[in-house]
Amino acid sequence: MPFDILLKNARIVDGTGSPWYRADLAIRHDSIVRIAFNIIEPARRTIDVGGQVVAPGFIDIHSHARRGIFDVPTADNYIRMGVTTVIEGPDGSSPVPLAPFLARLDSLKKSINIGAFIGQGSVRSAVMGDVDRKATPDEIARMRTLVEQGMKDGAFGLSSGLFYVPGTFTPTEEVIELAKVAGRFGGIYISHMRDEAKGVVASVKETIRIGEEGGLPTQITHHKVVGPGYWGQSVETLRLVEEARARGVDATIDQYPYTASATSIAAALLPAWALEGTNAAIQARLKDPATRAKIKTESVQILKLERGGGDAKNVVIAHCAFDPTLDGRSLADITTLHGMEPTLDNAAESAMWIVEKGGCQGIFHAISEDDLVRILRYPGTMIATDGEIPIFGKSNPHPRSYGTFARVLGVYVREKHAITLEDAVRKMTSYPAQRLGLADRGVLRPGMKADVVVFDPATVRDKATFENPHQYAEGFSTVIVNGHVAFERGAMSAARPGVVLYGPAKQR
Ligand SMILES: [Zn+2]
Repeated sequence: MPFDILLKNARIVDGTGSPWYRADLAIRHDSIVRIAFNIIEPARRTIDVGGQVVAPGFIDIHSHARRGIFDVPTADNYIRMGVTTVIEGPDGSSPVPLAPFLARLDSLKKSINIGAFIGQGSVRSAVMGDVDRKATPDEIARMRTLVEQGMKDGAFGLSSGLFYVPGTFTPTEEVIELAKVAGRFGGIYISHMRDEAKGVVASVKETIRIGEEGGLPTQITHHKVVGPGYWGQSVETLRLVEEARARGVDATIDQYPYTASATSIAAALLPAWALEGTNAAIQARLKDPATRAKIKTESVQILKLERGGGDAKNVVIAHCAFDPTLDGRSLADITTLHGMEPTLDNAAESAMWIVEKGGCQGIFHAISEDDLVRILRYPGTMIATDGEIPIFGKSNPHPRSYGTFARVLGVYVREKHAITLEDAVRKMTSYPAQRLGLADRGVLRPGMKADVVVFDPATVRDKATFENPHQYAEGFSTVIVNGHVAFERGAMSAARPGVVLYGPAKQR
């Protein structure tokens, strides 16, 4: 029986981190069936890749793909930078229950593989709302049941976003109780930590503790140090991770390669206590002069030392539903538009005005390149986007959604030599696969699922910028998902070969 696809003349970067080698790769149905120096048997389709790199499809362990997957099921932004699998439900936020969402994804004809975490914040919200108090034993029992159901539905583990409401109201001990449930079903814990600025070191300790006492692998997601007041603390955070690993705690990291983060203006620039409860409660606090003054004082500090990076120009609007003409404008611009000098004091007023108007998504330039590279070089760090599936040309998303994986290959491998090509590919493939327990993906080897990317290491690059984010990555010539070509010669194919991937408690 002939092969379905034969890739000839490849530089195989197999995902393990081993040096590349020259070989051909043969695919039949949805699997890799042979890799050898010179395959001469017939194939229905032969593609001479002419010495380009052939690597496993990239796996994004932190994706907000449910923003967009049902609008753009081809996930062009992801596929065109080599990503063949995305894992949803990060930052403590997932559908609860998970089963109907996964069923809907299963019936969707899509180009990309997708799986999910169950979110601690969403579980807490479902049981007790967004309130700032400890859970009762009965509420904890109900939350444990929801996490157990999530794991049985196919989650890869428990995600948290302890920075956000309601994660920020959650005591560590409560997270540990839920982490134990995820661990019992073979899942991992992955956390957007409580504080990535002033409290980054304490937050790393908390993340390690949750893994240690919860009895499961633990991951610091999109690890960064936010705010010029705290730059350099990645030396200490990496030391803590290394120390935990030395005593047997399975602690790991993922990261995106940008010196700006993205989240809502409210979560980033207002204190968490101001965001408790319903929108009406939030608005009432902003109307009360004394409370407003207190919010403003804290917001000025956040602008100065944390997400504001010390200057209102460092905060840029990604998307404002109430006024899309603000997309792409900085908080300094908006302050000026309101007839005020763009001081931090006045910028805090603009931030509160934005929250009063219904809120916007923002981009925050407040990360140092030194911390970024230090974290990237750490062997226990994998690559993840924290991105979504944008509608092409709409709003002003963080460029990570279009560029993350290509940027690591173009900027940090080719231009800066921060890591090797083989190590970069390992961080994008076998490492996240191993973390998720995906035993049949992430490495090029006969018997593995045929998620395969072909790219030119001399030209691969991200094109998306903060000013002009809607630009696809370049340098990928062919992307194969489950043995079917999803992308080639600059265009998406008609195939929709993506499948839903299920976690350890429900693996097919
Ligand atoms: Zn996050």
